[in-house]
Amino acid sequence: MMLQVKKFVFNPFMENTYVLFDETNDCIIIDPGCVEKDEEIQLTEFIQSKSLAVKQLINTHCHIDHVLGNAFVKRKFNVALSIHPIEEPMLKAVKTYASNYGFFQYQDSTPDSFLNEGDRVVLGNQKLEILFVPGHSPGHIVLYHELTKILMGGDVLFENSIGRTDLPGGDFDTLINSIHQKLFTLPDDVTVYCGHGSETSIGYEKRNNPFCAIVK
Ligand SMILES: [Zn+2]
Ligand SMILES: [Zn+2]
Repeated sequence: MMLQVKKFVFNPFMENTYVLFDETNDCIIIDPGCVEKDEEIQLTEFIQSKSLAVKQLINTHCHIDHVLGNAFVKRKFNVALSIHPIEEPMLKAVKTYASNYGFFQYQDSTPDSFLNEGDRVVLGNQKLEILFVPGHSPGHIVLYHELTKILMGGDVLFENSIGRTDLPGGDFDTLINSIHQKLFTLPDDVTVYCGHGSETSIGYEKRNNPFCAIVK
């Protein structure tokens, strides 16, 4: 057994929440979107049923759909939150607009440490590398596990699509550059676990993604 990925689809934005774990039973929670009680129970029951020890909480970026469960996860599992430093104002801003989306019970959360390009995240016997891929949001990061060719990609690259760039801090050219320089330089058989929708691969998107059809 190597790196395992468990996916949940949470909240009205259909956001993908991920739990990464390996044979040591340590785990990392990425982008917890749980907001309803039953979603919190689903996440908790999975972690308990596998006897996982939650070691870290990471946000790829801090749009509301990816951080709704931050406060719950921090409290429930007594775990530290890590984000990219540029993303901190995005996280702070969520409480100012959460009610606009109907999330009147939103609980604020603050980061405990920061992750930058090239940092290594240790999960049990596994090491994941942090890549900085701005454009969808200014401080977006992804996690790459070279050994199993798994990329936890957030909202940068989707199956036949890319992250939207019309939200505050978004920039289309920056996003396209990030995809070409940081993601399309990875091997074709890397599996991308996206922040929404189904998994894809680097090779498939290089050949088929209409947004990335820039000849290089
Ligand atoms: Zn987003
Ligand atoms: Zn999203």
